[in-house]
Amino acid sequence: MFNKVKIAWFGKHLGEEPPLIPAGGIFFTGCNLRCVFCQNYQISQQNLGQFYTIEELAEIMLKLQNIGANNIDLVSPTIWYKQIKEAICLARKNGLAIPIIWNSNAYENLEVLKEVEGLIDIYLPDFKYSNNELGLKYSKINNYSLVAEKAIKEMWRQVGNLRIRNGKAYNGLIIRHLVLPNNIENSFGVLDKIAKINLDIHVSLMNQYSPLYKANEFPEINRELNREEFFKVYDYYKKLGLGNGWIQEEKSQNNLVPDFKKDNPFN
Ligand code: SF4
Repeated sequence: MFNKVKIAWFGKHLGEEPPLIPAGGIFFTGCNLRCVFCQNYQISQQNLGQFYTIEELAEIMLKLQNIGANNIDLVSPTIWYKQIKEAICLARKNGLAIPIIWNSNAYENLEVLKEVEGLIDIYLPDFKYSNNELGLKYSKINNYSLVAEKAIKEMWRQVGNLRIRNGKAYNGLIIRHLVLPNNIENSFGVLDKIAKINLDIHVSLMNQYSPLYKANEFPEINRELNREEFFKVYDYYKKLGLGNGWIQEEKSQNNLVPDFKKDNPFN
């Protein structure tokens, strides 16, 4: 096994859901998707970053804990899972006590998820498409929907519903979904799939889409999402009976407002 990982940035990160912040973000270089609208395309597709050994990665985790991060937020970890697994074990041995977040695009091999079972406290997958054709068109991947659905079911099996103590999440699943312009049926399909797994799943519904990177090659997504589209998706989410989680305030990347359907005893 290659014993290094490539990292573009690490530090305290405020752009996550309220019970996760301040997160101890570690942004890994590379990605197994090729999204044409990727806002981090220099990191995911242009190889920005530098190499660190497994021991250095474990030290970074401890450093993030020491500066007050609530958790270790592994962003795009999938392709580096072997090294990450070793680093987590080493950091735990050396005193890492905060939860570990697996922040991925949900395009995961079940074997990988089984390998990290027990090491990951919080899964934070982005469920992008219910329509495989969109996956192929916008992320250059063939069978996204089925793979992501299976992966999310496995994550749910491993950690179950989100648990929060004193305002801080310490275990469980949060599913993110970014609504794309001119594609609200795709969002309806994603929400249908989530609702079928469990209506209590915490969903983070996001409206922050911007036509970045190569989005201008696809006229239908070459604009911002409009309010009407977002609220049609939000209404559908409520109609299904979902509602544990957050919706993003208008045009604010860092401001997710709670949208709990009932009093959550863990809050
Ligand atoms: S999955 Fe996320 S990080 Fe990877 S290319 Fe797509 S938008 Fe970028």
